Amino acid sequence: MILTQFDLTGKTAIVTGSSTGLGQAMALGLAQAGADIVGVYNSTPPTNAGDIESLDRRFLGIKADLSDIDSVDLIMNQAVEAFSTIDILVNNAGIIRRNDALTFSEKDWDDVMNVNLKTLFFLCQAIAKHFVEHKKKGKIINIASMLSFQGGIKVPSYTSSKSGVLGLTRLLACEWASRGINVNAIAPGYMATANTQPIRDDPGRNRQILERIPAGAWGNPEDLQGAVVFLASNAADYVHGFTLAVDGGWLAR
Ligand code: NAD
Repeated sequence: MILTQFDLTGKTAIVTGSSTGLGQAMALGLAQAGADIVGVYNSTPPTNAGDIESLDRRFLGIKADLSDIDSVDLIMNQAVEAFSTIDILVNNAGIIRRNDALTFSEKDWDDVMNVNLKTLFFLCQAIAKHFVEHKKKGKIINIASMLSFQGGIKVPSYTSSKSGVLGLTRLLACEWASRGINVNAIAPGYMATANTQPIRDDPGRNRQILERIPAGAWGNPEDLQGAVVFLASNAADYVHGFTLAVDGGWLAR
């Protein structure tokens, strides 16, 4: 039956940036669909372990700094030690720096690119090696952005990284689809999280954004739960290399 295709019982998902915002909601959604969760965090300790365990799912928190490429081995080793095999990777962690392109610093470029694109790629590579080694199918879901499609303003490294996430998602799908590995992305629209607090606090920007969203409201982190469960599930077995916008209609405008 069709709903069983969405069931994630017996699967394990790694979710980066799982302690806050979109990652927290997606981790909970995956657990509600049946998955055990490996939650990767750095500064904010896991706040959702109790919620996930109360669903009779297992939760393992891993503290790792994704700006450092060594975090990839650390995450994979701890996750595999606890769960033996992994089925799903959600590359959600990301940062943003806002400044004029004319004066944008090398540090603000490198910091964002390292977390949002470099480590994301090497986590994809590590989990794909794991899937190949264990001869199993797997799902990779990268978190993109409206700025995977559009230019934005004052966020040159963020736009570059998220445009890169869209392109990389396509490339990895082309290389790995035949191995039974699905690589897709979700592009959230304007969602109410810490990431967007500065623009929500600016009355002018807040009004401009709300006026442009066909749905007329900021998205909530829970709005991503359906999309992430779908892309993590057997229901998406023939979906490869696609970036699914969950944006209240922003891109349709
Ligand atoms: P958030 O700031 O709450 O979440 C970002 C998460 O990434 C945090 O949990 C943080 O701890 C983690 N993180 C950042 N740097 C890290 C590092 N060096 N090591 C380990 N973890 C690190 O914001 P959010 O809105 O929930 O963002 C989640 C993802 O969604 C990001 O990739 C963001 O770019 C993307 N996104 C957000 C929106 C939005 O409107 N909120 C829109 C499009 C895309």
